[in-house]
Amino acid sequence: MGKCSLCHISHPTISSFLSICLNCIRKRPEEALEIAQKRRASARLKFGLPPSPLRNPNGIKCNGCANSCSIGIGEIGFCGLVKNIEGRLIRLGGSPDRGILEWYYDPLPTNCVASWFCPGCTGRGYPKYSYSQGPEIFHENLAVFYGSCSYDCLYCQNWHFRKLTVGLKSFISAKDLAAKAEKKSVSCICYFGGDPSTQMPHCLETSKIALEKAKESNRILRLCWETNGNISEDFIPMMGEYALESGGNIKFDIKSWDENLNIILCGTSNRSSLNNLKLLGKFYEKRLEVPLISVSTLLVPGYIDVEEVRNIAEFISSINRSIPYTLLGFYGCFLMEDLPRTSRSLALKCKEVALKYLDNVSIGNIWLLS
Ligand SMILES: [Zn+2]
Repeated sequence: MGKCSLCHISHPTISSFLSICLNCIRKRPEEALEIAQKRRASARLKFGLPPSPLRNPNGIKCNGCANSCSIGIGEIGFCGLVKNIEGRLIRLGGSPDRGILEWYYDPLPTNCVASWFCPGCTGRGYPKYSYSQGPEIFHENLAVFYGSCSYDCLYCQNWHFRKLTVGLKSFISAKDLAAKAEKKSVSCICYFGGDPSTQMPHCLETSKIALEKAKESNRILRLCWETNGNISEDFIPMMGEYALESGGNIKFDIKSWDENLNIILCGTSNRSSLNNLKLLGKFYEKRLEVPLISVSTLLVPGYIDVEEVRNIAEFISSINRSIPYTLLGFYGCFLMEDLPRTSRSLALKCKEVALKYLDNVSIGNIWLLS
C-alpha cells in the first residue's frame, strides 16, 4: 500500500515507488511532477540512462524520435542509442546496418492486441491480405523486439529491453532481418519492444526490403507496429504507406490523455503520439475493410481512470469512430509491481464510456481482471 506524499492518503492503488495519488497529479501538477522526476531519475540512473529527454542549450538536436533531444558533447540521448561525439551525432544503434533487437517466429494466431480484427488471426481482408478465411494456421509472425524506447513507463511490462539498450546488443542489419521474413510460413512482421520509435531508420529499411522480396514472390506480408507513437513526424508517411500497401496494422498504445500524467508515468509528453495518430488517420480512411490503425490503453489502477479513457476515446472519434480501441487489463510490473490488477468493474465502466464515442471497443486480456 502506497502513501501520497502530498495529501498523505494511503491506498492500495497508490504506487509506493511514485508516492503520489492521481488526485494530486491533477490538482497539484507542478509539485507532483517535481516529486516524480526525482524518483524516476534515481531509477533511470541505475540503468545508466538519462532521466528525461535532453535539453542541453549547447547541444545538437536529434530527430531520431519525437523526444527531439538536444544532446551536448559526450552526452547520450534519452533512447540510449544516439551520442554526441566531438560535435557530431552518432547512432550507436538503429541505423539500417545496426538494429539493436531480438527476433523470433511466433505462430499465428498470436495474442497480439489486434487479434480480434487482424487478417492473420481472423481472415479479415481475405484473399488480398490474408491466406485464409479464418485464422492463418501454420503461418507465423516475425516478431521484432526492439531494444530501446522513447518512453520510460514505470509499469513497463518488457522492462528488460533496457539491458539490450545499455549493452548495445544483439545487433542485426535491416537486410539480414528482412531475410528472416523470406521463410514461406511468415505472413506478417510485427515491430514492438521496447519500441520501434527510436530505431525507425532500421525499421523502415527492413520494411522496404522485406516488402520488395514479398512482391517478387507474390506473397502476402503484412507489416505491423506496436508502438507508443512517439515517432519523429518525418517517418509517419512512409510507415503509413507500408502498412496500407501490405494490409498491416499500426497499433498505438496511448498511455494517458493528461500530458502531466503521461510525463509522470512515462517520462515524456504524449502530444506527439496523439498528433501522429491524427496524421495516420488519413491512411486509415483509404482502407476501411482492414483497419490500418488501432489504439490500446492499459487500465492502470489508481492512475488511468474513466476520465482518461473518455478523453482518449473522444480524441480517437475525432479521427474516425470506427477505429478499434482495446482496453487492457493491468498486472503489477517493474516499479509499479505493488499495484493490484485492473478490476472487472473499472474495465466495464471504461468500455461503456468508450462506446459512447467509438463503434469498436474490446477488453483485451480479460482473464487478468480481478
Ligand atoms: Zn495525493
